[in-house]
Amino acid sequence: MINYGKHNIVQDDIDAVVDVLENHFLTQGNKVPLFEQALCDYTGAKYCTAVNSGTSGLHVACLALSIGEGDWLWTSPNSFVASANCALYCGAQVDFVDIDRASRNIDVAKLAKKITLAKRENKLPKAIVVVHFSGSTCDMKAIQDICKPFNIAIIEDAAHSLGALYNGKPVGSCEFSDIAVLSFHPVKSITTAEGGALMCNNAKLAQNCLLFAKHGITRNQELMQQPIADDDQGPWYYQQLVLGYNYRLSDLQAALGISQLKRIEHFMQARRQLAIRYFDLLKDLPIKLPLNADVNESSWHLFMIEVEPSIRKDLYEKLHQAGVGVNVHYIPIHLHPYYQSLGFKAGDFPEAEGFYKGALTLPLYVGLESEQQLHVVNTLKVLLAPQ
Ligand SMILES: *Cc1c(COP(=O)(O)O)cnc(C)c1O
Repeated sequence: MINYGKHNIVQDDIDAVVDVLENHFLTQGNKVPLFEQALCDYTGAKYCTAVNSGTSGLHVACLALSIGEGDWLWTSPNSFVASANCALYCGAQVDFVDIDRASRNIDVAKLAKKITLAKRENKLPKAIVVVHFSGSTCDMKAIQDICKPFNIAIIEDAAHSLGALYNGKPVGSCEFSDIAVLSFHPVKSITTAEGGALMCNNAKLAQNCLLFAKHGITRNQELMQQPIADDDQGPWYYQQLVLGYNYRLSDLQAALGISQLKRIEHFMQARRQLAIRYFDLLKDLPIKLPLNADVNESSWHLFMIEVEPSIRKDLYEKLHQAGVGVNVHYIPIHLHPYYQSLGFKAGDFPEAEGFYKGALTLPLYVGLESEQQLHVVNTLKVLLAPQ
């Protein structure tokens, strides 16, 4: 089966992990800070906190921005549930802004309109989570222009988009956002098996991220909230300031991440070449292709086509029978039973729902062979040929 996504592991990655197992601390050693520094160097962001998943990263981002009870957070319905769940973990409420059907990202005009309405009702969101769907970036400049006058914080769910460029800069630079959250799940741009990171440029926010990701504990005397008693004067001493979590990444994982990040440019080149080839090979088929204006800027986490909704299920099954492991991204978040129990219903976000109905994710990953890609295309051609 040719899967839709797959990690790429070479001997250097294996050696890096084995080296930690044999010679270093397994956790809380120096590999995590080195990985964090490498992520800062690559993205251009000032601060990085590595965490044990992208989902933990989104949770910590909300905590660091003081999102809690009584607050609203908005996101795109065309995403993985984690983009919205993070607000609910903090006791805040979630709402969605529908997508632009062409870019499949949050619709900037709808966002502006919804903010105007929310302002009138005194229900402005404290933050929005924007998702660079499939690795194609949102219009961050426009989003910042809309949000800034209302003091709405911007979190980038950059789980798909490490390696993508916006405005000539790597995603994660946070030039137009408060925090960007990365994921290192095996299907993403680079992997640490499970893992994630928070990028930001604000010292106070970075401090908060660190605190919430590590039990709410600090050893930094400048941050301590109580005077240090004589008996406590020693290097063992720490204070818990807030209710935090153990969201640490291990050094085994960080070593893998450091090794993987060294190949990010190669990964992006490989993904972009595959995408360019799909555009070429699929151009005459009765399907809708993704936008290709940013073909050399997108990180091509997913290559998604749209087919006639009435044939999607049959096509999915026949492709799988032919060894082509297509997938579907995403069931709109508000259609899940849990979100329906919160009051959302079908029809609330018609563009995301419409996209979902015909969506198919084609295999695209580093290591997908030319012949395998040709097999995907040829199978599609046969199945879509007029009967
Ligand atoms: C993968 C993903 C996440 C969650 O990341 P994990 O590392 O799996 O927790 C969040 N948002 C989006 C859009 C994702 O694709």
